[in-house]
Amino acid sequence: MIISIASGKGGTGKTTIAINLALSLPKETVQLIDCDVEEPNSHIFLKPTFHRVTSVGMRVPRIDESKCTYCGKCAQVCEYHAIAVILKNVLVFDELCHGCGACSYLCPEKAIFEVEREIGIIQEGSANGISFINGILNIGEPMASPIIRKAKEGIQKNKITILDAPPGTACPVIETVKGSDFCLLVTEPTPFGLNDLELAVGMLEKLGIQMGIVINKADIGDRGIWDYCKSKNIPILMEIPMDRKIAESYSKGIPIVVENPSYIQRFCDLFEKVEKLHESNRRRPRIE
Ligand code: SF4
Ligand code: SF4
Repeated sequence: MIISIASGKGGTGKTTIAINLALSLPKETVQLIDCDVEEPNSHIFLKPTFHRVTSVGMRVPRIDESKCTYCGKCAQVCEYHAIAVILKNVLVFDELCHGCGACSYLCPEKAIFEVEREIGIIQEGSANGISFINGILNIGEPMASPIIRKAKEGIQKNKITILDAPPGTACPVIETVKGSDFCLLVTEPTPFGLNDLELAVGMLEKLGIQMGIVINKADIGDRGIWDYCKSKNIPILMEIPMDRKIAESYSKGIPIVVENPSYIQRFCDLFEKVEKLHESNRRRPRIE
């Protein structure tokens, strides 16, 4: 089963939920993949050891000047403005290139070849028996999705895979959550939290992914999240109060379930609710 943990907004406690859920389940059955590749931080709490590091690259074009006629076709076909032909110069902007291969495919002179350029790495290992994968995008690189795709290639089908998604609702989040059996959206009861939750719910509805809500700092703010979830018939599966001790242990890199083991049962209950909802959804007759 693949459970992604996402939030429309950063700083809502998404990683906290991912880590503590992973730590609460039988460790040999769980896998955690940190897909927040621009700012991975699950490893701070899990302190894993890594046994493999793999480079992740993207194929980008290079020009064979001896064949190029400077016709400009490559620049015309590039959707991302990653190639410019200026007089007798072909400029390639690697950071803008999406590696689609259209320019080399359509160059009439076959003057374009591709080279591999590293954009990040994947680290594979384990943390106290929990299988762990970390994706890291190199600093300054704009394209997170290839790293996330590579990290997800490590999904073990016989395990409960927890995907810690990046914040927001842009491409890296979509790349993370697509293919999930269930998505937990972590939010907080503030107008900003509600606004970003609405965006995240819209994204999951478009992708057809079943969802449930975890409300963090549930005793602050207003009741907007509860009203919204009721109106959309989205289940609220867990509420975590604002607790200074939780914030303090987070700042020291200590998971809630280590600081306060009574939370283990609460996270197990959360998983059970997810499993039940997923099962009942699977059994529901489909209307084509
Ligand atoms: S399409 Fe090929 S031949 Fe034309 S400018 Fe680009 S690299 Fe040169
Ligand atoms: S590979 Fe695609 S994105 Fe990259 S320069 Fe060529 S056409 Fe543009």
